[in-house]
Amino acid sequence: MSLTAEIIAVGDELLRGSITNTNAQAISQALASLGIDVRWHTVVGDHPVPLKDVLAVARSRADILITTGGLGPTYDDLTKQTVAEAFDKQLVFHPDILEGIRAFYKASLHMDMPDNNRQQAELPEGCVIFDNPMGTAPGCAFETGGTHVLMLPGPPTEMLPMLIHHAVPYLSRLTDSVSVSHDIMTFGMGESSVDALLHEKLTYTENPVIATYAKPAEVRIRVTACGKTVQAAEALAAPITAQIRAALGRFVYGVDVPSLEAQCLALLKDKGLSFAAAESCTGGQVAQRITALPGSSTVFRGGVVSYWSSVKADVLGVPQHLLTEYGAVSDPVARAMAEGVRRITGADLAVSVTGVAGPDRDERGNEVGLVYIGLATPDGVFCRKMQVGRQQRERIQALASNHAYDLIRRHLTGLPL
Ligand code: ATP
Repeated sequence: MSLTAEIIAVGDELLRGSITNTNAQAISQALASLGIDVRWHTVVGDHPVPLKDVLAVARSRADILITTGGLGPTYDDLTKQTVAEAFDKQLVFHPDILEGIRAFYKASLHMDMPDNNRQQAELPEGCVIFDNPMGTAPGCAFETGGTHVLMLPGPPTEMLPMLIHHAVPYLSRLTDSVSVSHDIMTFGMGESSVDALLHEKLTYTENPVIATYAKPAEVRIRVTACGKTVQAAEALAAPITAQIRAALGRFVYGVDVPSLEAQCLALLKDKGLSFAAAESCTGGQVAQRITALPGSSTVFRGGVVSYWSSVKADVLGVPQHLLTEYGAVSDPVARAMAEGVRRITGADLAVSVTGVAGPDRDERGNEVGLVYIGLATPDGVFCRKMQVGRQQRERIQALASNHAYDLIRRHLTGLPL
C-alpha cells in the first residue's frame, strides 16, 4: 500500500484566482515519482480557523501533509503557528537561523533585517529543518502519531529548490520503493475515446498506474510503476506500455518524446530531409514550434506567413485563378501553397495551413474551424481537410499546427495520410 498525501496551499491570492497553484502541480509530480499517492489538493486562505479545519481533515485521511505558503514574516503568514497549534507542538527559537536570515538580508537584499523576521527563526520542536538559500523562510518537516507534516514556502523560486533538495530526500526515506514513468504520446484520438479503448483492452491496477492528459488532438498516456528497484519498476511498466502501444496503434507517435514536432525533427534528421512551411491562419506557429527546438536548423529551411491572398499569389506563386475560383481556404490553394514554399526554399517536404480561425466566417461564408493542411513531397501533393468546429481561435490554431506535424510524421513513417 503506498503512502497517501494531501497538498495544502495556503493563500488568499490563490482563492481569489490572482495566482495559479503551480506549487501543487510541482509537488504532485515529485511525489508521483516517489510512488506517493497524492489524493487531495486543498487551497485555503490566510486565516487560522479554516486552516485548522483543513489540517484536521487532512490528518484524518492522509499519511503526509505538505503545506506551501504562509511562512513569511508578515501578519498574514500564519501557517507555522497554526500547524504547530494543530499538532500540539511548541515553537522553538533557533539563534543560528536568525543569524542566517540577518546575513541573507545583508548579502542579497542589502538592508538590515526587520524585527518581525525574528519569528521565521522559530520552528516546531524536534523538526527537520529545510534551509532556504533563495529566501528567508526556512521550511521543515516533523512526524507525529504516524503523520508526516512538511511546510514549504510559497514563492516557487524558493519552494522548488527546497522540494528537490530537502522534501524529496526526506520523503524518499519513508518509501522503500522507486518509481519509473513512461509517456505514450498519441495524436488524432480524443481523450474519452482513448480512455474507453484502454479500459476495454487493459486491466487497470494500482501498480502501474495509468493516467491520461489531453492537449488539442493529443493525448499523453503516462504509465507509472513502483518497485523495490528501478529494474523491478521497469519490469512492471514494460508490458503495460507495450499493451497500450498495441491498442492505440498508429495513433501513437512516440514514447517518452516531448512533442509531435520533436518527433518530426528526429525523423527528418534520421532521414537527412528538410522541410518548410507556408502558413495562413496559424500565423507562423508551425515555424515557431520547430524553431523552438535546438538543432532545428538542420531540417527547417524557413517559412512564409502568407496571410493576405496577394502574398499567397506574389510570394508563394499560388495561381490567381485558384484564389478567385476556390478562395484562399480551399484544397487547391493549400496544395499550391505547399508546392510554392517547397519550390522557393528548395526543401524536401513542405506543409501549408489555410483555414478559418474565427471568430467569424470568412468572406466566402466558410465556417469557423474549416482548415486545409497541404503537404508537398517529391512523390506528390496531398491535402487534409479538417472541420474542427466552432472553437476558440487559439485552439483552432493549435489543432491546425498539430495536424501539419501529423502529416509530416505520417509521411515519414509510411502511414496513410
Ligand atoms: P514570503 O516570505 O514571500 O511571504 P510565504 O511562504 O509566506 O513567502 P506566501 O506569502 O504565501 O509565501 O506567497 C508568496 C508568493 O508566492 C505569492 O505572492 C505567490 O506569488 C507565490 N505563491 C504562493 N503560493 C503559491 C502556489 N501555491 N503556487 C504558486 N505560487 C505561489
